[in-house]
Amino acid sequence: MANLVATVAVDNTFFSFDTDYSYNVPNEIASDIQVGCKVLVPFGRSNKLRYGIVIQLQEQDNADKLKYIEKLCDVKPVLTQEMILLASWLKQKCFCTTYDCLKLMLPRKHGELKSKSERMVRLINDDESLISSLTKKQQLVFNLLLDVGSASVNEACEFCDVGVGVIKNLEKQNIVEIYDREVYRNPYNLKYEIENNEIKLSKKQNEAYLTFKEMLDKDGGNGLLFGITGSGKTQVYLKLIDDAIKDDKDVIVMVPEISLTPQTLSIFHKRYGNKVAVIHSGLSLGERNDEFKRLDRGEAKIVIGTRSAIFAPFHNLGLIIMDEEQEHTYKSERTPRYHARDVAMFRAKYNKALFLMASATPSIETYSYALNGKYKLCELDERYGKAQLPKVITVDMKQEMKNGNKSPISMELRNLIQESLDNHKQTILLINRRGYNTFIACNDCGHVLTCPNCSISLTYHSNINKLVCHYCGFAKGLDNICPECQSDAVRYSGYGTQRVESELQMCFPNANILRMDADTTSKKFSHERLFEAFSNHEYDILIGTQMVAKGLDFPDVNLVGVVNADNSLYDENYMANERSFDLITQVVGRCGRRDEEGIAVIQTINPYNETIEFASEQDYKSFYKNEIGMRKLMIYPPFCDIYSIGFVSESESHAALCSKKFFDILVELNSDEYKDVKIVVLGPTPAKISKINNSYRYRLAIKCKNSKNVRNMITEILKSISKMRDYKDVSISVDLNPYDLM
Ligand code: ADP
Ligand code: ZN
Ligand code: ZN
Repeated sequence: MANLVATVAVDNTFFSFDTDYSYNVPNEIASDIQVGCKVLVPFGRSNKLRYGIVIQLQEQDNADKLKYIEKLCDVKPVLTQEMILLASWLKQKCFCTTYDCLKLMLPRKHGELKSKSERMVRLINDDESLISSLTKKQQLVFNLLLDVGSASVNEACEFCDVGVGVIKNLEKQNIVEIYDREVYRNPYNLKYEIENNEIKLSKKQNEAYLTFKEMLDKDGGNGLLFGITGSGKTQVYLKLIDDAIKDDKDVIVMVPEISLTPQTLSIFHKRYGNKVAVIHSGLSLGERNDEFKRLDRGEAKIVIGTRSAIFAPFHNLGLIIMDEEQEHTYKSERTPRYHARDVAMFRAKYNKALFLMASATPSIETYSYALNGKYKLCELDERYGKAQLPKVITVDMKQEMKNGNKSPISMELRNLIQESLDNHKQTILLINRRGYNTFIACNDCGHVLTCPNCSISLTYHSNINKLVCHYCGFAKGLDNICPECQSDAVRYSGYGTQRVESELQMCFPNANILRMDADTTSKKFSHERLFEAFSNHEYDILIGTQMVAKGLDFPDVNLVGVVNADNSLYDENYMANERSFDLITQVVGRCGRRDEEGIAVIQTINPYNETIEFASEQDYKSFYKNEIGMRKLMIYPPFCDIYSIGFVSESESHAALCSKKFFDILVELNSDEYKDVKIVVLGPTPAKISKINNSYRYRLAIKCKNSKNVRNMITEILKSISKMRDYKDVSISVDLNPYDLM
């Protein structure tokens, strides 16, 4: 007799054992169960109950031996057929379990769509002068609420590391109130007037728009909008979104984490009001849950967000936009290590939607596919209106040193900053390292001060007067004595954001300087606040790490400086040139975005480096031509794929031996069962940073043409190693075309 059998993706299983688990469907639920439903099933020898998602239902003979589903958790499926297919496809690319992929799509850990009422706390007295009367712990909560408005009591306690008593005390003083929240939580507290102005496109913009509009109206496809900074790519998006919405289609707009600024959001909120939902990794679970519900119910038609927004549970997806498609934030660095671009292509194909990538500096791969006709290519090669690309000046910092200037700011840049201040304009300075001094060594014995837990040198932070490890957070006071030879000739050199800030403050005592880096923006929404303050011209100079380089549009900025253009150039990664070019071009693009000409200063010790030369000429095409030639010669993507295999363990020898074992099995399989697969293996070697947080890291890279065969071979190796007792404590990661080779 045939039984109804469900194939279930079960939570918390191991990749190496991940097969399809089949269960009998009890009669009571047979008429309700559907693909995409959440269930509880008995699992393993102990029959412990675990959550799972039904990914297939079929009649099957001889199913008597199978276990039975314990419980159907929701009558309504929590995931659509599209998402189930997507998960099955994605798991093969990412070497993880189906459930690992499904989790990306579920609004909560176990996909509970029910809204729970939550204990919330909000400020009812926001008089900042109260602060001095509060205890240290109360101040933490007060400051948090000033920043975010409201928070769940649990979140507030966790964030400030205080007990509930602290909040209760604030309640007694009538400073906060505690309430139950069941209403919709709106993280952005919207009060926008809708302005649905008609957009008038320039001739070039209109050509691009019409090309993509045709795809949008027909069967979709993949496109690249290659437009220089300030060319008005956003206006083209808006026109396309208008059309999609008119046709009752859903829209996903992806932006890199760093450009999810109030500026960007307000453009969308003003135009589309409550049709917009926002999804990014900074949302609390509750907020994320709410936004998912609004999408699922069809209240929101446009989602704007970072990487994870690509999994938005839309039912009628028509348009996906990926702004700054080259950004590394679109690639997940955690399991599942997916690239949002691949997911977007899957969804676009499934839904016959248009997937539009856009950038001033597309990744080498994307641009080459566009040139080869794989993606539809449109170009905007001039700035909108009267705005001109800035004039670029390259300063040779070696010469500057010879002239006796030891400061990180060249004379030329200094004079230009002065001029900008005199004209009441604003300046942005990019510097790649945070902290004060970035290199601390002993002059007598040469010993470099490194973190005891990581193979990384320590950075001096002047505000806390400590040496800090940027990888594990280790911090120690400084005693100026070399731990190796006890000499007191410890020398501090290299400069980070803090040192540049203090140098500038000395040169320009009357200027208001804003520093933005991971140290000043760790609080939720603090980015937004700081950018807003800069935008209101409360500051004259903004200094910061990469987060100040991209996507911003400040009308008063007429000068930008790259303090050290060399930092990222000599990385051992094949993408190093591409990344430097992108960074410099983007930061240069931040200025002169209105009528007046802007100036960009690039400080470098290699003024004749080709990448820097192309970037200062804002010449992407020549850079591309040069770079693609190099990639072809050296056989790097797009001429091959690279799998980076990482081995991490607290035991150095286990990590090393495991990587060797992997290599041996690889060679064996490649000479036998998989001898048709062409590969080049690099390594195994210790990783670039060989120890982080007391874990040792080894790596191995496989150059190949990605195919089912290669994936099967790697899967087979992973499965055999997982059975070996010696390497139980080694965690192995597989990453396809990673931004960092470990
Ligand atoms: P990009 O994203 O390509 O760097 P933006 O979309 O930010 O460029 O456009 C740069 C500036 O030019 C913005 O201030 C934008 O409002 C303005 N702009 C561009 N195109 C138009 C247009 N068609 N009509 C009005 N303003 C435009
Ligand atoms: Zn020493
Ligand atoms: Zn460390």
